[in-house]
Amino acid sequence: MIISTKKGTPAEELERILHDFEQKGLSVTMIRGTDYNVFGLVGDTTVLDEKQIRANPYVDNVQRVSEPYKNANRLFHEEDSVIDVAGIKVGGKEKLVVIGGPCSVEGDNVIDIAKQVKAAGACMLRGGAYKPRTSPYAFQGMETDGILAMVKAREATGLPIVSELMSEDKIEEFEQYVDLVQIGARNMQNFHLLKAVGKMKKPVLLKRGLANTIEEWIMSAEYIMAGGNENVILCERGIRTFEKYTRNTLDLSVVPIIKEKTHLPIIIDPSHATGNWRYVESMSLAAVAAGADGLIIEVHPCPECAWSDGAQSLKPERFAEVVRKAREIARVVGRDL
Ligand code: PEP
Ligand code: MN
Repeated sequence: MIISTKKGTPAEELERILHDFEQKGLSVTMIRGTDYNVFGLVGDTTVLDEKQIRANPYVDNVQRVSEPYKNANRLFHEEDSVIDVAGIKVGGKEKLVVIGGPCSVEGDNVIDIAKQVKAAGACMLRGGAYKPRTSPYAFQGMETDGILAMVKAREATGLPIVSELMSEDKIEEFEQYVDLVQIGARNMQNFHLLKAVGKMKKPVLLKRGLANTIEEWIMSAEYIMAGGNENVILCERGIRTFEKYTRNTLDLSVVPIIKEKTHLPIIIDPSHATGNWRYVESMSLAAVAAGADGLIIEVHPCPECAWSDGAQSLKPERFAEVVRKAREIARVVGRDL
């Protein structure tokens, strides 16, 4: 971190600033000019609060030269992290994962959907039992009954199950039944929930917030990892822009950026990113070509009857076609699916 002070800063103030940073365990180099002074701080600067430093009236500018995250940082962990989800490996150089299933669990029909997505090549089943809906009058999810229906689907197919956790009071239920705990876009910055999930034993699928920067998203992963749970998979699901022809704007540039900045796996959700089943195939293929570690896709046998997100859900046959084509692209980029 580089800090410059204002012209005319008294010598005793400079000494105090120097001493303060040294007290925090940092090694400090001070460059004295005739008018201005510059401090170079080396060490673990993640603990420093830039805004607090700027509050000092003698401080002119503060600039970070390293990222504010360490657990997720590729700098301190060169190898790709491979996350184990009930025996399925996510990340690394070889195999891609495809997760399929309905937006919301609607009952035991999730067992049939599980069989269909498995036959199409999916290695995990998704299904929401606690739904973050914009309207309080919309279907809110089957809750525990939905989770139990997912458990039956896992028993019938062997597919690990992915479901969204919205509140701390359900952590025990998810710890018991769910293989991959999804933190949805709307809760990406629910820091209390992130801290609680950081204490969980199950791996976490952390979706990018509706309007969050990549750095904010990585900082949310950092919350979970700092709590002790290193098993985080990132998921890009589109961000809010001015565009109206799609539900969100799929930011595929995150794939190489996340790979450069972090060692965590990243998967793409083309369903929520586009909001339209017609665009799911092309965005799935583009995601695999870009180097994503997998896809999570909404699938429903009767999208027009789905209790949520039907417009972006693929019928099982179409999902099978997407997986078949994605496998071809995976081969071109040197991976298996
Ligand atoms: C979902 O996966 O069903 C969901 C609600 O996703 P997001 O949090 O990305 O909107
Ligand atoms: Mn959905």
